[in-house]
Amino acid sequence: MTNLQEAFSPDSFRQNAHTLVDLLADYLESAQNQTITSVIPYQEPDESLAFWQTDYEQGAGNVEDFFRNVIEKSTHLHHPRYMGHQVTPPLPITAIASMFSGLLNNGMAVYEMGLVSNPLERILSELLANKIGFDENASGLLTSGGTLANLTALLAARAAKTDVWEEGTSEKLAVMVSEEAHYCIDRAARIMGMGSEGIIKVSTNEKLQIRTDLLEKYYNEATEKGFRVICIVGSACSTSTGSYDNLAEIGHFAHKHQIWFHVDGAHGGAVIFSEKYKHKVKGIAQADSVVIDWHKMLMTPALATALIFKRDEDAFKTFQQKAQYLWANQHSKDWFNSGKRTFECTKLMMSLKIYSILKAHGEQIFTENVEYLHGLAEKFANLVKARQNFELAIEPESNIVCFRLVSLDSNLNDLNSSIRKQLLQEGNFYIVQTTLKENVYLRVSLMNPLTTEADLNALLDEIERIGNQISGK
Ligand SMILES: *Cc1c(COP(=O)(O)O)cnc(C)c1O
Repeated sequence: MTNLQEAFSPDSFRQNAHTLVDLLADYLESAQNQTITSVIPYQEPDESLAFWQTDYEQGAGNVEDFFRNVIEKSTHLHHPRYMGHQVTPPLPITAIASMFSGLLNNGMAVYEMGLVSNPLERILSELLANKIGFDENASGLLTSGGTLANLTALLAARAAKTDVWEEGTSEKLAVMVSEEAHYCIDRAARIMGMGSEGIIKVSTNEKLQIRTDLLEKYYNEATEKGFRVICIVGSACSTSTGSYDNLAEIGHFAHKHQIWFHVDGAHGGAVIFSEKYKHKVKGIAQADSVVIDWHKMLMTPALATALIFKRDEDAFKTFQQKAQYLWANQHSKDWFNSGKRTFECTKLMMSLKIYSILKAHGEQIFTENVEYLHGLAEKFANLVKARQNFELAIEPESNIVCFRLVSLDSNLNDLNSSIRKQLLQEGNFYIVQTTLKENVYLRVSLMNPLTTEADLNALLDEIERIGNQISGK
């Protein structure tokens, strides 16, 4: 056998795969029962680089050792004390689906290269459209992450409101958004040439929601300065604190001024799966477009983001382009040719991963996850409030909680930053920090449905212990 033939050998694939799946199952077990050495085996970047450079210099070798190292040196999202960023510990079935997507590698852009994944993508889009409350005119797509999905939505908004795509323009376009919105909205507006003045950041109230009472004022000021506001973005929820904007009022404002209403529900849009929590996105059905990340609260591996349009035709206006070798007619609205509506040409078979969840566990699993994580945040907030030395930044509205240790004789920003740094170095918990109105807060995103109240109490104990150590008590 030649080298290439050997590399493609079904027998060695079978053998490797069994061994490596066992390795992953062992990881799952030790992470979930907390016997793995740490949640985050933090190393300084240069130290990590040196390790991998040495590994690289050894050339081809034992793949099992390589993957063992990968597991050992990665952040362990399946550990119940992983509470850091808003990335989900994926359901194990989705890892299998990822393997299928990896090996089958159907590139999606045209129907012929996505015979299965394009129909599945349509079914999943219709599921979300239905939950949002859109009618049968809606349609959607999957794309590589919330950042790209939000850019795509703003491009669609611009295509709907102007002729920039064909004609170019010197008109000053603008987008309105809360000052607490994810940075990718700002980035998208700048990519689109709106500049810093074209991204109008509306201030927030004490719950860090967009101040809808100021929308008219900001709008009028922008118009007087010669800007044409084409879109307003509602955050559902915001990233730092998990605050849901008042979508119903934003929708009303957008309708009045005939501007595009986009909802960035990358994180919290998932509440549409819960009767108990979907009131948080009341008014979402007024939106022209909605983004929801499947890889945040919906247990799918990154990246898998849905962008859903109220009107199917809007989706096709975003990128009107001729590509003779891909599709015959650029104007026909063929849902089955993925690349017509997405930034990507070749794309991962994302729908396969999501659909595998529905097949293995049913839709109810999404509801359970969303409700468990929101409920857990409420419990955590109560634990924080019950302890004298702690305070909440604000009452949590989602599964994100910001809080800090308070001690009369310390600089609280330094104290809390040092605590977070030490937690990272010790690696027994993974949490992050954020700054709100110049105050440093510790921040947890409760993403892991196997996290319990006992883990949360252990976290608070640990923070208190480190805090005492730092302030020399
Ligand atoms: C996470 C997040 C994004 C960015 O999404 P990615 O999938 O990380 O690109 C955008 N907006 C909000 C509100 C988010 O929470």
